[in-house]
Amino acid sequence: MPPAENRECSADVIVVGAGPTGLMLACELALAGVQVRLLDRRVQQQSNITRAFAVHARTLELLDARGLADELVSRGVPVREVQPAPGASVDLRELETRFPMILIAPQSGTEQVLERRARELGVEIVRGAEVVGLQQDADRVVVDLADGSNASASYVIGADGAHSTVRGLVGVDFAGTQYATHIMLADVRLTHPPAEAMFARTGAEGAVIVVPFGDGWFRAIAWDRRREQVPLEVPLPVEEMRDAFGRIAGTDFGMCEQRWSSRFLSERRQARRYRVGRVFLAGDAAHVHSPLGGQGMNTGIQDAMNLGWKLAAAIHGRAPSWLLDSYEQERHRVGAQVLALTDGFNRLVLWRSALRRAAQTRVVRLLLHFDPTRRLMMGRLTGLGIAYPASARHAHPGTGRRAPDLDCGGTRLYELLRDGRFVLVDATSSGAAADTVRRAAHHLHVVRHDPLATTEWPAVMLIRPDGYIAWADDDQADAAGKAAAAVGQWCGTRVTNRTDHRSDLVRAPRD
Ligand SMILES: Cc1cc2nc3c(=O)[nH]c(=O)nc-3n(C[C@H](O)[C@H](O)[C@H](O)COP(=O)(O)OP(=O)(O)OC[C@H]3O[C@@H](n4cnc5c(N)ncnc54)[C@H](O)[C@@H]3O)c2cc1C
Repeated sequence: MPPAENRECSADVIVVGAGPTGLMLACELALAGVQVRLLDRRVQQQSNITRAFAVHARTLELLDARGLADELVSRGVPVREVQPAPGASVDLRELETRFPMILIAPQSGTEQVLERRARELGVEIVRGAEVVGLQQDADRVVVDLADGSNASASYVIGADGAHSTVRGLVGVDFAGTQYATHIMLADVRLTHPPAEAMFARTGAEGAVIVVPFGDGWFRAIAWDRRREQVPLEVPLPVEEMRDAFGRIAGTDFGMCEQRWSSRFLSERRQARRYRVGRVFLAGDAAHVHSPLGGQGMNTGIQDAMNLGWKLAAAIHGRAPSWLLDSYEQERHRVGAQVLALTDGFNRLVLWRSALRRAAQTRVVRLLLHFDPTRRLMMGRLTGLGIAYPASARHAHPGTGRRAPDLDCGGTRLYELLRDGRFVLVDATSSGAAADTVRRAAHHLHVVRHDPLATTEWPAVMLIRPDGYIAWADDDQADAAGKAAAAVGQWCGTRVTNRTDHRSDLVRAPRD
């Protein structure tokens, strides 16, 4: 049957799914001047049931790089200490970041912040639009919608969640397995809330977590061995949650009212590929895992930050040939690490054998006891340790690492990143790299940095729009030539000789 109505549009990119991943992607693309259409089958009034509540430090840094973190932090509840295993606590204040915390903020609030930003940037958000078909050729992708219409774009991103239709339509396998334990979730009120901002206990009968949303409601989560096989469709009354908390934590904190509850079965799966031609997968469409560790939404937002600027560069004709493929290379590896981390948490908490749980707990305590292993574990949990190491053999060891939030003459580096451009930081004594690049390229920021203030960082760094070091060097002698080459390699060849003498920042008009 021919399409009832053709929604043919001139969008450069169609993003399918307006969850946190799709919203962040839409923001990133629109910020870079790309025309985006965001399709979601949910109609406006329906809220996405709040699943995620933990926002980790690296996600907050990345949101800060777009000016969105402060609002989120002001809405949430900061947690400064966590207990990954009984008797093993981690002080998040040790983290070297502007955000030494896990922020408890309901996913719906994060989505509101992102959606408002997307609208400000001119993203066209179409609700009630369910994608059911997809065809692509060398130049375009066409998606069919459930109402019989269709829409086309140069690229499509499937950010349509764990049961991704887009993933199925491009034939990508979602390899993995299902966990056996059904999780119980409820939003409740407590007459005697716990003293800790994030309360977690494990025991022979299972595990429980309770966190505040900051508005008088609390999210209660229980993995209850006695109730782990109760069918998902069986209603979950507050008495059942009370009973689980009473047995596992020794108290139910006076649970007295419930506004929502659900049973949930988590899976551990990863898409074998994140790209098929002109179609990309991101967020839960690309990876799902145990909610323990609170990684899913964080990883999805970070997928979006990685893919957005690359796709924008390709659309503007500035992307080197390898850039788009680097999304899968970089993020598939991170996704696999997240699956391994959350699976480890799952075993730690839910292994039936008390002996194995005790052994695993001892290992975690030991790892947290020593500085290097504790830093490694905290880096994995908070995302601060994520890096995209260079494949080139002689690359500077700083390449691919998270960029430091340097003070760039009164402006923080992450503030400079807010318009989504590369930043060249020159801390050489001559400043030749800054001078050369400033003369040649107009689509990035160029800053001079006090050589004495950055001794632990490379002398010259090119920072990607997503806050990672694209290229770095300590060679003062040929800093200018190498920096110019790196800018050409990463930012494309569209350079001009226009120089803005009014400030130390070289800005370009929106493309
Ligand atoms: C109990 C629980 C607790 C969690 N806690 C945390 C946590 O603390 N921290 C954390 O980081 N993560 C957590 N997660 C995971 C987190 O909720 C998900 O990883 C996150 O929602 C993924 O976002 P997304 O945008 O990729 O997908 P989703 O949020 O699933 O959004 C997908 C969107 O696509 C739309 N859609 C689907 N199919 C179509 C279609 N065919 N056409 C058009 N639109 C479509 C849907 O309507 C939806 O709006 C938790 C998960 C659970 C279950």
